[in-house]
Amino acid sequence: MNFGIVYFSLGSNLGGRERNIASAIEEISTHIGRVNKISSMFESEPIGDKSHPWYLNCCISAFSGLTPNRIMQKCQEIEMKLGRVRGDAKWAPRTIDIDIIFYGDKVVSTPILTVPHPEAHKRLFVLMPMAELAPDFTHPKLRKSVWQLLNECPDTSIVSRPSHSEVNAKAGCHHQADAAL
Ligand code: ADP
Ligand code: MG
Repeated sequence: MNFGIVYFSLGSNLGGRERNIASAIEEISTHIGRVNKISSMFESEPIGDKSHPWYLNCCISAFSGLTPNRIMQKCQEIEMKLGRVRGDAKWAPRTIDIDIIFYGDKVVSTPILTVPHPEAHKRLFVLMPMAELAPDFTHPKLRKSVWQLLNECPDTSIVSRPSHSEVNAKAGCHHQADAAL
């Protein structure tokens, strides 16, 4: 079986955001393939309705022998397991969103799956964590590196890298260790 490197973008803006992302990574490693790298957590303002809660985002890479379609099915199963309610409006708040950004240099274009993700190069919350994982990775359609796409990205939305304790405080989950500080 051929194992390809798959890059995922994970986002959460409902519930324990950091815990949701950690659970998604765990599930991906169990059901999709060995997780290779995990970026820092980024906090980003919501797209669309600005009154929605802010997101935590990160990117990860994993080695998988599954086909792109199968990976997407697995991602949707994991989203459901982690409490995502589907059928909601575009950009509605969600416990977890798992998007396939790249699958090696594969290009997939079907009604249900587009890889590379068609919005990836337009979003700072994808490009900033991707630049930590693989700045030199070439977008197989645009033929530009992640670093170049980040530098050319016109997105002006706020994306920052909060400290660990800020992440937990904003998510409303205080760890014992933090409380003692
Ligand atoms: P979004 O991620 O755009 O906020 P959803 O998570 O609800 O919205 O996904 C909507 C649809 O996008 C999914 O049902 C899936 O079929 C499709 N899709 C197409 N390409 C991808 C991709 N690369 N990764 C994840 N979903 C994708
Ligand atoms: Mg999605």
